[in-house]
Amino acid sequence: MHAEIIAIGTELTTGAKLDTNSQWLSIELAAVGIPVLMHTTVSDDMPAMLETLRAAVRRSDIVVISGGLGPTLDDLTRQALADLAGVTLVLHEPSLQYIRDLFAKRKRIMPERNVIQAMFPAGSQPIENPHGSAPGVWMELPRPDGARCLIAAIPGVPSEMKPMFRDSVLPRLPHSNKIIRRARINCYGIGESACEEKLGDVTARGRDPEVGITVHEGTITLRIEAHGTTESECDTKIAETKQLIHQRLGELVFGEEDEQLEDIVVRELNRRGQTVAVADEVTGGVLSLWLTAVSDSESCFLGGVIGSAVGQVFNPPVPAGQVENLPHEHARRLAQQTRERFGSDFALAIAGSLKTDGIPQLSLALADSSGTEVQEHIPVADVSFARNRAAKSALDLLRLKLRDLWPQKTR
Ligand code: AMP
Ligand code: MG
Repeated sequence: MHAEIIAIGTELTTGAKLDTNSQWLSIELAAVGIPVLMHTTVSDDMPAMLETLRAAVRRSDIVVISGGLGPTLDDLTRQALADLAGVTLVLHEPSLQYIRDLFAKRKRIMPERNVIQAMFPAGSQPIENPHGSAPGVWMELPRPDGARCLIAAIPGVPSEMKPMFRDSVLPRLPHSNKIIRRARINCYGIGESACEEKLGDVTARGRDPEVGITVHEGTITLRIEAHGTTESECDTKIAETKQLIHQRLGELVFGEEDEQLEDIVVRELNRRGQTVAVADEVTGGVLSLWLTAVSDSESCFLGGVIGSAVGQVFNPPVPAGQVENLPHEHARRLAQQTRERFGSDFALAIAGSLKTDGIPQLSLALADSSGTEVQEHIPVADVSFARNRAAKSALDLLRLKLRDLWPQKTR
């Protein structure tokens, strides 16, 4: 048994609005053990809607549709469902009364156009909507293979769609004895394909739990999905897979679920009662912003110097004979001077510039009482990505230091 989701609205296909309903619905369906195999987004266009609906009914057991149930001329979902079933729209008196009462309560006159919201394809049932004027539509249609396709159409407005789905659609769906549980593991310091290579058979398709890889600005997220009949069965499978991932990736794993590098750094600094300051010529304050945004960072993040002010505040002279090593030496001295100036346990420096001709090269440095570690950082082409990547790599230097491990030289 599987479901698919159709989001309807020209505002979605033009890119004016992001389809967040399908994401939410997929998570809800997975939680009750119904996997979603497809998302489709269709504009308010009758032929396109019909084509999509026909294909959906042919291939899926459950089709959840959001959007297009409003009273205006571009809201075509009801008519599309009637055409799909080869029936006409018929008036449902109790729904009309409900809509009339709703307008009366708001001391407004119901426009004639709202009558359409009380019209339903013959043979379908209304799904009540206590949070708005558009009831949903519940329909069951025969599939070519003899099974029945269950169709639920609900409004697009998320604040109406969500309670309607939970209160009135979920209880009508067949109960699966399977449940799906998910977990995420976050890694930094390796490319996506190299990560997959290290993981070996862990990412094989069809494995249970299945492990998928996504990457965002250098942070790799491993999505674990376990299927089972009880929560504890899923939890056990997830725990085993997590352990395997930790074995294969070691220090590359930094956190779980929504945890970011700065969360780990702040947590570890606070645990030790230690502090950090930054000198950041590159990210325009991204590194400081991220650290500041973590709750409880006031006690461990002492502050920093950002942008061209770094050169004015520190202006570290580079000793003769070290000019060929300029970016590294510059970063090293910045980190050391920042640590002295702020009186912090650690200081991070991001030195260089992204605005050079040719390939910019940045240097990252981390100073502490035992010395200063310097690392080359080759930025990606997109400047805003490059800023974030530089900030992440600096945080990762400190994260690894706090783990008492120096970073690997190849990254
Ligand atoms: P509709 O039910 O088509 O009249 O949609 C009403 C409003 O709900 C739209 O103007 C959007 O702002 C919002 N909406 C519709 N579909 C979605 C969706 N898939 N994701 C997020 N918001 C949506
Ligand atoms: Mg719409």
